[in-house]
Amino acid sequence: MKNNNMIEEDYKRVWAECLEVIKDTLGPENRKAYETWFTPIVPLKLEGSTLLVQVPSQFFYEWIEEHYIDLLRRVIRMHLGPGAMLKYSIVMDQTIPGEPLTTMLPSQQLRATRNPLTDLPVNINKEGARELPNPFVIPGIQKTRIPSQLSPNYTLENFVEGDCNRLARSAGYAVADKPGQTSFNPLLLHSAVGLGKTHLANAIGLKTKELHPDKIVLYVTSEQFMQQYAEAGRAGTTNDFIHFYEMIDVLIVDDIQFWAGKAPKTQEAFFHIFNHLHQRGCQIIITSDKAPGELQGLEPRLISRLKWGLNADLQAPDVETRKRILRQKLHNDGIEMSDEVIEYIAYNINTNVRELEGALISLIAQSSLNRKQITLELTKQMIDKYVQSSSREVTIDYIQKVVCDYLELPVDAIQQTSRKREIVQARQLSMYFAKKITKSSLAVIGAQCGNKDHATVLHACKQIENLRQTDRYMRTMVEELEKKLSE
Ligand code: ADP
Ligand code: MG
Repeated sequence: MKNNNMIEEDYKRVWAECLEVIKDTLGPENRKAYETWFTPIVPLKLEGSTLLVQVPSQFFYEWIEEHYIDLLRRVIRMHLGPGAMLKYSIVMDQTIPGEPLTTMLPSQQLRATRNPLTDLPVNINKEGARELPNPFVIPGIQKTRIPSQLSPNYTLENFVEGDCNRLARSAGYAVADKPGQTSFNPLLLHSAVGLGKTHLANAIGLKTKELHPDKIVLYVTSEQFMQQYAEAGRAGTTNDFIHFYEMIDVLIVDDIQFWAGKAPKTQEAFFHIFNHLHQRGCQIIITSDKAPGELQGLEPRLISRLKWGLNADLQAPDVETRKRILRQKLHNDGIEMSDEVIEYIAYNINTNVRELEGALISLIAQSSLNRKQITLELTKQMIDKYVQSSSREVTIDYIQKVVCDYLELPVDAIQQTSRKREIVQARQLSMYFAKKITKSSLAVIGAQCGNKDHATVLHACKQIENLRQTDRYMRTMVEELEKKLSE
């Protein structure tokens, strides 16, 4: 007995220690990745120097193997010796603890289910359709497919990948590949406005239909859902409403925060639909402008459901991703623009993708209305006007670009480990201006300027300040850069 306890404590302790090292190695900037990919791993037992761990899905296992195997190998061997190995056990848990499955209301009338989106009678028109628990199907009823309400333009192929959205995008693909069969159920996408939630949710729907033409996919905004529910209540067809939603295989509900502080009945109806779908292994995809923990005014039990699967956030894209997004939009529209124009827009519009697109569209409109070429000059006039209204902020990226252009260096020079004098100088100048102009901490500035620590940034600031007072060449350079940065 005692011995067993020892062993149990051992493997748990070993894994806890490994986790500490992994967390440390990934650092605070990868906290999200740590929580997503490492905290769900459960240690099961230790056999010699092989640690058996449980992971929630095949996809999860593949992701870890693809992205973190080196780190894991290193850490495991550090703790269990050079021959140490990791073995995975994949466990998918689809059972729902707590509330038993209930439909909202017992069905009283037998009537054709109506599709609340089109108000047409619906029959599931798919091969090998499974038995519905309570078929409303009346022979002779007009057969229609349920239109998915997806926009054909918001595809996964059009959704440019970057560090800002990699996790959400990959999870989205996994969900489309195996709807309802991954541990990402529900998949909750959250972000501030204009960062691609609607686009990505829609894209997952399209991809699902492409890979599984037999699945019923439906996109609905939370506002539509609420209105339909109210209308069904007035018309006495609440049962049909619920029944309709329970037939869906992949349900996408956009902007769920809209229900916060209102619509308790709608939330309850959705809660039951959610349970029903989840229990049947159907996929639920939800978007929200906040993480579930911050969604105040939503039913607590609904919030707890939202935490079951994967919560993936979309961040604002970095400058390289912004450039790629612009290039893609231009390519799709068949319009050409010079690199300097694209760069200018990408560096100066850094709030969100919707504004980035807005700026691009205004620029194209300006140029075609006035029959003017899209030159850098025209772009500057336009964008500066555009940015003024949405308060312009100088970013570290932009500072690096201005400094490197001035010193005639490629902008990625700053990220190189080189000790070449001009590169060191570019890095130090970027740090100096970042400290002066932006609100970023020394640690953040260091991380963005060649992965240096805060002490290096502090040293750089002092160095430039000293040189500025003693060296005429440096003084002129700082003054000119200052002018360029405030233009
Ligand atoms: P949200 O729903 O988060 O407010 P949207 O999905 O409506 O944001 O996105 C706003 C606009 O930005 C859309 O036109 C969308 O196509 C575009 N967009 C957002 N992210 C990307 C991306 N990664 N690649 C391409 N376009 C994007
Ligand atoms: Mg949206």
